[in-house]
Amino acid sequence: MYCLSAADLDIQARARQFADELIPLEQDAELADGEVPAEQAAAHKARAIDLGLHAANMPKEVGGGGCTSLQQVLITEQLGRVTNALAWACGTPPSWLPAVATLDQAERYVRPAARGEKDECYAITEEGAGSDVEAIEATVRRDGDEYVLNGTKWHVTSFYSADYAFFQGKLAGGQNAGQHAMLIVDLPSPGVRVVRTPAYSHTLGSAHKHPIVAFEDVRVPLTQLVGAEGDGMSFAYEWFRFERLMVAARCLGAAERLVAEMTAFAAERRVSGRPIAELGAVQAMLADSLTELFAARAMTYETARCIDAGADVKVQHAQCSMAKLYASEMAGRVADRAVQVFGGRGYMREYAAERFFRELRVERIWEGTSEVQRSIIAGQMIKRGPGQLA
Ligand SMILES: Cc1cc2nc3c(=O)[nH]c(=O)nc-3n(C[C@H](O)[C@H](O)[C@H](O)COP(=O)(O)OP(=O)(O)OC[C@H]3O[C@@H](n4cnc5c(N)ncnc54)[C@H](O)[C@@H]3O)c2cc1C
Repeated sequence: MYCLSAADLDIQARARQFADELIPLEQDAELADGEVPAEQAAAHKARAIDLGLHAANMPKEVGGGGCTSLQQVLITEQLGRVTNALAWACGTPPSWLPAVATLDQAERYVRPAARGEKDECYAITEEGAGSDVEAIEATVRRDGDEYVLNGTKWHVTSFYSADYAFFQGKLAGGQNAGQHAMLIVDLPSPGVRVVRTPAYSHTLGSAHKHPIVAFEDVRVPLTQLVGAEGDGMSFAYEWFRFERLMVAARCLGAAERLVAEMTAFAAERRVSGRPIAELGAVQAMLADSLTELFAARAMTYETARCIDAGADVKVQHAQCSMAKLYASEMAGRVADRAVQVFGGRGYMREYAAERFFRELRVERIWEGTSEVQRSIIAGQMIKRGPGQLA
């Protein structure tokens, strides 16, 4: 099915194997509030590297897997079958960085990240600037041989396990004043402090929590600038495209697991002497879920194939938005139906349906909300004509 090559099937099988090893550990993680013992987390990371899954998105020249977009989707899809972020042990370092990194940045960040020795986090969103990244108020001021960074960033995912942060701010003063700049900040650094660590719907361990982080007069050498002054927004857009496709892929995996579990449960669970799978109302939930999964998978694979074939970047952007929008909304509907099929058990945290019901909600919010995706798609439809996009 889906016309996958031998190489595609091989990497898909390795990712599936890894996911199958992690799934039995989910309940313990859930009941321990997401915490995974450090040695277990390290073993998972080593296993991902061993299976050739870590940094699959990075070019081979810097030590990455050099996988096609389709292969990256196939890996992420399988990892999406796992709850509690256990599969985040398999990293996807910033694949946009090698093209713009200086030699020093390549040695200190890109290669170590590809080897699995350094992890990053993103400090972009602020209290008053989420969907509208243009509205950020964080500042980047040049002072001699250094930049001085100030700003308070929200939802900084994986801050506690990160070795460095990408900080985005607006240049204060100088000929590029008001433009965006992205800088790499080593962690820990003087002036970087956690304001607080809010609790979220999903149950993730401390390594992957999303604290609010203040950057107060943080000084970094000029060499920490990524690309040129004014480039900040273009990196964000490139990363958004990748992340949106990966959100879609994760949602496919989640929906596949949910469909499998609800089908098996419906066949087994007997009410009034017969399996609930024989009831029309339950059958409708099963059938709609698989049909929508099929549509989302076809769309996501096709989007990845278009990227691999070198489609126009704006077309890629719109198609990644469509894949993210459809797959994340599809997975939300499937999770809702799965909870319903499982009945009271669907409300118990020890069942995957309940965990996915909470965990999948954010897929419609981060990396651009569903409303933002619709506005991107509609904008491109008006500019290019719908026939160019789908
Ligand atoms: C768990 C989690 C982890 C995150 N991790 C990170 C991270 O690591 N780094 C980081 O920088 N950020 C991170 N984020 C931030 C995330 O990207 C933002 O929350 C998201 O982009 C939405 O921004 P917002 O929360 O400010 O909502 P808002 O922008 O305030 O949106 C509120 C509502 O208005 C709607 N809306 C906004 N603009 C439009 C529009 N143009 N048209 C129609 N409707 C619109 C939205 O769709 C939404 O319904 C994370 C968020 C969460 C929840």
